[in-house]
Amino acid sequence: MTRVFNFSAGPAMLPQEVLQQAAAEMLDWQGSGMSVMEMSHRGKEFGAIFEAAERDLRDLLAVPANYRILFLQGGGIGENAIVPMNLVGRKAQPATVDFIHTGAWSGKSIKEAKKYCTVNVAASAEEDGKFRTIPPRETWKLSRDAAYVHVCTNETIDGVEFQFSPDVDADTGGAPLVADMSSHILSRQIDVSRYGVIFGGAQKNIGPAGLTLVIVREDLVGHALAICPSAFDWKVVAENNSMYNTPPTYSIYIAGLVFQWLKRQGGVAAIEQRNIAKAALLYDFLDSTGFYSNKVDKTCRSRMNVPFFLHDDRLNDAFLAGAKARGLLQLKGHKSVGGMRASIYNAMPPEGVQALVDYLKDFEKQHG
Ligand code: PMP
Repeated sequence: MTRVFNFSAGPAMLPQEVLQQAAAEMLDWQGSGMSVMEMSHRGKEFGAIFEAAERDLRDLLAVPANYRILFLQGGGIGENAIVPMNLVGRKAQPATVDFIHTGAWSGKSIKEAKKYCTVNVAASAEEDGKFRTIPPRETWKLSRDAAYVHVCTNETIDGVEFQFSPDVDADTGGAPLVADMSSHILSRQIDVSRYGVIFGGAQKNIGPAGLTLVIVREDLVGHALAICPSAFDWKVVAENNSMYNTPPTYSIYIAGLVFQWLKRQGGVAAIEQRNIAKAALLYDFLDSTGFYSNKVDKTCRSRMNVPFFLHDDRLNDAFLAGAKARGLLQLKGHKSVGGMRASIYNAMPPEGVQALVDYLKDFEKQHG
């Protein structure tokens, strides 16, 4: 068996230990005689798996007691509709929502939200169609009475990450901050209490696709518009302990194993240090040569998603073929940005980043 270093933006690498444990438990989960996939979501075995996953996530992110953790489906894109359907009802209609436009994913959120509210783009980093910065907090033109303020704290495609938790209270009179953390949740420490809602799809730092996490402050639950499907009404979901409809049980089980793995690594604080070191290794090399470049402002480069360019894009195909031959996969950049992209989530070991840097050096020697 050969395992590659998979730099995919998601679904992404999972820790090998987790996959091995899942394989060992595949046919018979802890003497139950069943695979987790075959269990009733209402049975006591799955109940134990579910409770442990929720408890571990709460510990890892130090989620305060007045926040609910919901295990949903629909992905980050689903949340682009589910969030407005749950939150705009707190204001007279049509409500205004403030957005900070920092890349492709906040752009998609803006487009979808227009079906449910009046969108105010309070700040945009767009320059010639590109996103390479986070607009400084002082420049945001927030509305007086917004239903909420939306940010995407790590733009997976553009490689731009917030290095601060914005404080929006001062200008908005308490509009909650909603953050799409799909591609960096659990990669760094955050103060959950700064946010009204945090959401993210699982398939990058958490587990398999199909599971979507929502962490929501209790007072923001219970305001869904009448048109909101019951399965996505946070009040219905919370009252039913994420079991109003059948939750993605296997994805929750794997996420639970990832949470346990993360605890064994020393938790989020320890993985954050490892992520800082991994990102520095790659960015420092990219910056040290004229052969490659990363164009994102140094103050807001993503630790998770590193887009980069070869100085001559006619070499791209040869670069990707050589990488594949060394077991370095999924390095092609998103089509809207071009070039290359290395996604280095929690489960990417430091050796994977080192192998990539070694390859970058060798390729430059051959073609520079
Ligand atoms: N938001 C962000 C920041 C993402 O990276 C992604 C997926 N790449 C999404 C939302 C959409 O997630 P999904 O495809 O699970 O709906």
